[in-house]
Amino acid sequence: MKTHQELLKKLRLLKEEAGSHSPSIITIKEGVPELEVKVDACFLSNPYATELFLDYFKRELIDTGGIKDLLEFYPSQNKVIAESLSGVIGIHPDNIFIGNGAIEIIQTVIQKYTKKKIVINIPTFSSYYEFVNDDVEVIYNKLYKENNFDLNIDEYVELVKHERPDTVVLINPNNPNGGYLSSEKIAHLLRELRDVKNFILDESFIHFAFENEYYDLKTASNLVYKFPNLILIKSMSKDFGIAGIRAGYAVMNSRRVQELLLNGFLWNSNGLSEYFFRLYTRDNFLSEYEAVRVKYIKETQEFIKELNQIPNIKVYPSMANFALVEILNGDTSDDFVFNMLIKYGIYLRTCSDKIGINGEFVRLASRTKSENKYIIESFTKELSK
Ligand SMILES: *Cc1c(COP(=O)(O)O)cnc(C)c1O
Repeated sequence: MKTHQELLKKLRLLKEEAGSHSPSIITIKEGVPELEVKVDACFLSNPYATELFLDYFKRELIDTGGIKDLLEFYPSQNKVIAESLSGVIGIHPDNIFIGNGAIEIIQTVIQKYTKKKIVINIPTFSSYYEFVNDDVEVIYNKLYKENNFDLNIDEYVELVKHERPDTVVLINPNNPNGGYLSSEKIAHLLRELRDVKNFILDESFIHFAFENEYYDLKTASNLVYKFPNLILIKSMSKDFGIAGIRAGYAVMNSRRVQELLLNGFLWNSNGLSEYFFRLYTRDNFLSEYEAVRVKYIKETQEFIKELNQIPNIKVYPSMANFALVEILNGDTSDDFVFNMLIKYGIYLRTCSDKIGINGEFVRLASRTKSENKYIIESFTKELSK
């Protein structure tokens, strides 16, 4: 049996090796096999959506043997998958680009279109500044905890007009804090910032956000017809719970889609992600997905409310499926994360590697109802001391 201190040391080492992303649960289990991980609250996905996908996958591909074709043959070309997706997202196929995960699109777009200067709000998803070319100037617009990490729209517009970047990036809802800009505000920003060549809007968590009592989805994708500078990026990993199959897409000006396809990306998908995208267009899957989406949003908002009752932490408002939590019990965020892992088997995301965030913060994902209950109990026990 290893002591707490020895486990801590091993975990610190793993974290160091992982750089600006957290070591995955698999890495942790391999590196520290004596740890029992009960709840992975680091990764941000809807667990009910994973179950739903798995249901279809098992019935239609495993039980029938259909999986063989998926493995043996090439998937469809980018353009063909875009055509199948067109109806369900209400966008012309010429404006859709399919990615091997959203990450591939972020990397491509940033490297190809960002030439001079980029404005990025921080804290943020690190890929946006890590992928910029060496000669690109990065302007960080800091969001302050004193303002709940809200973006001040007027100041932001002023900053962008003053800096004149060729690229701006907005993530809505933002990762790691879950801050949300209403569709009205997004439209306003697009009108104000027409002159910015690349207006990147990452809606990877948009299925968790809502503006009315029906939890209706509010995407800005159809604004691409009005604002040709809009590059809307959408990962399916989190809200459909399928990060392993690498499915994402972008909605953008058709000239850009054409340009990118001329440079490759012919068969950048795979059989599984094509299967997912086709499933996504089917009515029965969609209505079942809608049910697990709404159920998960309700449970998540309930979870965040309960977290708010726990002493010695501050929970920031979120419209995503996670909450940014400030640790106020005197622990560093790394030590708090390792502690919760060793003592309770709960894996959290430390934010110690995130730039633009002062203080001790962790990001906590909402999981299934029973896992959330266990998280609440463990946090309460640990933090009420
Ligand atoms: C996770 C994440 C991505 C990457 O998604 P993949 O489709 O898995 O590559 C992109 N943007 C944001 C904001 C994310 O959190």
